[in-house]
Amino acid sequence: MKIIMLGAPGAGKGTQAKMLADKYAIPHISTGDIFRANIKNGTELGKKAKEYMDQGLLVPDELTCDLVVDRVKQEDCKNGYILDGFPRTIPQAECLDAALTEMGEKIDFAVNVEVPDENIVNRMSGRRACVACGATYHIVHIPTKVEGICDRCGKELILRDDDKPETVTKRLNVYHEQTQPLIEYYTKKGVLVEVDGTKDMNDVFNAIVEILGK
Ligand code: ADP
Ligand code: ADP
Ligand code: ZN
Repeated sequence: MKIIMLGAPGAGKGTQAKMLADKYAIPHISTGDIFRANIKNGTELGKKAKEYMDQGLLVPDELTCDLVVDRVKQEDCKNGYILDGFPRTIPQAECLDAALTEMGEKIDFAVNVEVPDENIVNRMSGRRACVACGATYHIVHIPTKVEGICDRCGKELILRDDDKPETVTKRLNVYHEQTQPLIEYYTKKGVLVEVDGTKDMNDVFNAIVEILGK
């Protein structure tokens, strides 16, 4: 099963994508995580990506498309995958479609996790991320057992630089301008499904599984 997660920054795409990846035993591919790993390792890609990410802007399509296309061609993606945070622009979606068509494949579902803008700043300012394993928590809604420490791997959690309120507003604008048009794009392709992302994490998960199949 090939799934795309759509939704505003902070809508819960990553949270749901991880749970779905476990359930369906397919890889979770997050472009944000890939960029952050590159920044941490000091690669050329990381240096370039950071300039945009720090400003709340999208990393240019040229740096993003090939990366994902190469990734979905890997052996572990044969039975499907969950794309989280990609595509984020119409050209990225077109580039993915072109590659999939060439491979004789297609996306099965684009899951739009709907959360109104009013809830987003709260979600982001409370988000705590583990740079070591990629897990995310929320200080109020999804707390860790020990404050500031990752439940999964025991490392320290951080507040991402780009989750500070100034940058979040910018990212929301970028979302509305460049990413939201993908909802219409995937509706036209007949693969769009929507869930209410304001519900509790497990309710959102059950709603998605209900649609995708057990
Ligand atoms: P969130 O989960 O809050 O939406 P991500 O971790 O997906 O954030 O992305 C963090 C940042 O990485 C984005 O603000 C953007 O700068 C960059 N990024 C991630 N995915 C893409 C993409 N597909 N195209 C361009 N930039 C991206
Ligand atoms: P995205 O990948 O879309 O940017 P995340 O999955 O990182 O979003 O979630 C953003 C923040 O909201 C995190 O702090 C996460 O723990 C929290 N969160 C995710 N899903 C829910 C939910 N259903 N209810 C409340 N908080 C949530
Ligand atoms: Zn961790």
